[in-house]
Amino acid sequence: MSEQLAARLPGAERRPSPEEMARVANDLEGRSAEAILRWAAERYAPRVTFATGFGMEGCVLIDLIARAALPIDLFTLDTGLLFPETYDLWRRLEDRYQVSIRGVRPEQTVEEQAAASGPELWSSSPDRCCELRKMQPLRRSLEGFDAWLSAIRRDQTSDRAAAPVVGWDGRFGLVKVNPLVRWTFDQVRAHVRAYDVPYNSLHDQGYPSIGCWPCTSPVAPGEDPRAGRWRGREKKECGLNLRPIS
Ligand code: SF4
Repeated sequence: MSEQLAARLPGAERRPSPEEMARVANDLEGRSAEAILRWAAERYAPRVTFATGFGMEGCVLIDLIARAALPIDLFTLDTGLLFPETYDLWRRLEDRYQVSIRGVRPEQTVEEQAAASGPELWSSSPDRCCELRKMQPLRRSLEGFDAWLSAIRRDQTSDRAAAPVVGWDGRFGLVKVNPLVRWTFDQVRAHVRAYDVPYNSLHDQGYPSIGCWPCTSPVAPGEDPRAGRWRGREKKECGLNLRPIS
């Protein structure tokens, strides 16, 4: 990438050097999720946040953050189209850990979006729907932060397979920290059991991956865990955790 283009990307003025990012990623690669979270809090608080989608991995991160009392902001993208079980989980996590998880809403309600763009935009143009209900609110929310956490794991998708523990996220112009990137799903489940972490009851009803209700269906045994997201379409990601441009 040319220096001119790099200078125009979001957050370019506070971007750590590629050498620094590579060194930190290397240092943190073998560390525990708790140690990575502590590093993120010490390095970036109060300008570090976790945008949770309330997947099981996200619940584990909230458990780790809350039990260590780390000063990390928490928010979720409340599209207005979450399952009732997800709203219930949101409240249970707040009660259990005595934390506040901010709800970030799109500019338009579902009804306003239908009036402006047509009914069920998630069927006619899911990319546009995700842009309006997730990506725009996310961009606005991340503007006040220097680092954000994600709960992605390398073995979830081919796009996530090369995700570093920490790296520059050129899509949003801040540092991205992935404390669970080396975990397997079995490790996530074991942590949930060991610490009695609240999780979405839909996981026990055939929904390994849960997003908005219009775009999420249960999966059959043996299917890819994300097969129920935007079923029948090429789309596999809403865009939050696509590989960062650097
Ligand atoms: S997941 Fe579906 S309903 Fe939710 S914002 Fe994306 S397209 Fe819209």
